[in-house]
Amino acid sequence: MFKRFAMMALLLAFLTASTAAFADNVYVTAKGNKYHKADCRLIKNKQTVEMDKQKAIQQGYKPCKKCSKDEVQPENK
Ligand SMILES: [Zn+2]
Repeated sequence: MFKRFAMMALLLAFLTASTAAFADNVYVTAKGNKYHKADCRLIKNKQTVEMDKQKAIQQGYKPCKKCSKDEVQPENK
């Protein structure tokens, strides 16, 4: 019984840590409306502006389909 609790605590700690790792910066281009991760090949040769991810979302930027595929919300149009 205790062992299961310890496992849960460990899992919770892991989840918290990975959530904190998500609070990273993203990169946007001057004309684009998508935000990219640092290693995205679409922004490799472009001039980018680094900003906080939450800020980018607040400003209306959407996740890039190439590098942030897991964050793209299905569009309902
Ligand atoms: Zn990208």
